[in-house]
Amino acid sequence: MTTVFGLIIQGKLPSTKVFENDRILAIKDIHPVAPVHILIMPKKEIPNLHSLQKEDWPLIGEIMEIAQSLAEEMGIADGYRVLTNNGTDAGQTVFHLHFHLIGGRVLDKLG
Ligand code: AMP
Repeated sequence: MTTVFGLIIQGKLPSTKVFENDRILAIKDIHPVAPVHILIMPKKEIPNLHSLQKEDWPLIGEIMEIAQSLAEEMGIADGYRVLTNNGTDAGQTVFHLHFHLIGGRVLDKLG
């Protein structure tokens, strides 16, 4: 089922794009939790990390490379967090795989 991110990828919903190529899209989060809050996602409709197939793993490497570049570009290379919520219990609300790139302030400890 197409999600809100699927519609953004198809150009049917607006977003603020910060990176795009044939495989990956990065957009600003609509409800940022920090001065920098970007969502990096594959264009392929993969629900979450746990549903990744072996052939999809190169996409994750590429997403991490893009996270690194965007962190440089946004001036947060000294401290940032990259995370994905997998499943409802972890707080996943959009079931199209995405990684949050968060930074620009001192981040709270996990737990
Ligand atoms: P998660 O809870 O990990 O699934 O993350 C979903 C994220 O998507 C949340 O941080 C939302 O603020 C964000 N979000 C939801 N709809 C949009 C949208 N239309 N454009 C940008 N970000 C969105």
